[in-house]
Amino acid sequence: MPMDEFAQSTANLKQAVPLMIKYQVPTTPTNYALWYTYVAQTNPQLNQAIDRSISETGLCSAVTSEQLYQKHLALDTERNSEQVKHSLEAIATELQVTMQDTRVDAEQFHQVLEKGFSQLAKIDSEGLSLDEMVALVRELVQNSQKIGVSTRFFRDQLTDAEKEIGDLKNRIEEIRKEAYEDAMTNVLNRRAFDQEINTMMAMNKPFSLIMMDIDFFKTINDNFGHMFGDQVLKAIAKRISDSCNNGEKIYRIGGEEFALLLPTRKLLIARQFAESQRRAIERLNIINKNTSQRLNNVTASFGVAEFTPGDDYQSLMHRADVQLYKAKQLGRNRVMPMSL
Ligand code: GH3
Ligand code: MG
Ligand code: MG
Repeated sequence: MPMDEFAQSTANLKQAVPLMIKYQVPTTPTNYALWYTYVAQTNPQLNQAIDRSISETGLCSAVTSEQLYQKHLALDTERNSEQVKHSLEAIATELQVTMQDTRVDAEQFHQVLEKGFSQLAKIDSEGLSLDEMVALVRELVQNSQKIGVSTRFFRDQLTDAEKEIGDLKNRIEEIRKEAYEDAMTNVLNRRAFDQEINTMMAMNKPFSLIMMDIDFFKTINDNFGHMFGDQVLKAIAKRISDSCNNGEKIYRIGGEEFALLLPTRKLLIARQFAESQRRAIERLNIINKNTSQRLNNVTASFGVAEFTPGDDYQSLMHRADVQLYKAKQLGRNRVMPMSL
């Protein structure tokens, strides 16, 4: 990154934080990214939205910030992580410059000391006047104060930078999560699924895919409300995710659709795994927090397919989908293909 871009990143970094404080925005990593983008002026729509919020309410509330982030930046994680990288580079460069300054100061001080010592050495041979000695001591004291200021400044900068880097690290972690995690259920998302299934196919080794779809989920929503529907999704995702202890992974790939990838597992074993998940869901007891009602008859259907050499994404997904469809047709709450 060229020098002027470094300078720009640093300037943005330093502008964003005071603005956040001024408008009472909590200094979370998400907000940090939001306000960084605001001062960088790379997203005019975001700037308009923030300006509007400030002119209407005098601040930018945590909720508004979160909404703005979701609307304007969440999909743009690639660019965000690029910005974070730039910021880190900017901080590193800034520190380097300060360190160089400190080193130059230290070097000069060293020269002053050398000179001082050689003059002190002359006391014996040539004899220094009192005035000369006082001047010499004064010069040494002044210079050591200067080096003291310089290193203190450097130390403060280091402390600030450490904090900024810490925040940015959290931000990177958050970006990573946003990129691959489903925010509601905290299991991996479709993007992670697509990436991982392609990686596994490229390895050309056995693995299995399970597609799972909750039965009559629309009815659950209709009867108990969308909020409780969300609670059911979370409970099911957690239940399955808790039993993925041997390399299996669960992904939320649609509204009430999940996929599981089982490295090295052949169809028979994958089928058994799906069957145990089916039973676990059937046994779930989900309590509606608002009404204290229990839901104990939620079920799901499963379609299982094993990767075979020559498969591509479409063909493998299609085989699992066909089996899932059969499971639904045959009455739901079952795993297809049937016992082998
Ligand atoms: P089937 O047994 O055939 O799968 O029936 P179904 O009702 O589960 O299937 P359908 O595809 O008709 O309905 C899925 C429903 O899932 C419709 C949609 O409103 C609901 N849904 C999708 N995503 C979410 C979500 O994030 N939260 C909630 N609460 N509901 C969701
Ligand atoms: Mg569905
Ligand atoms: Mg369904």
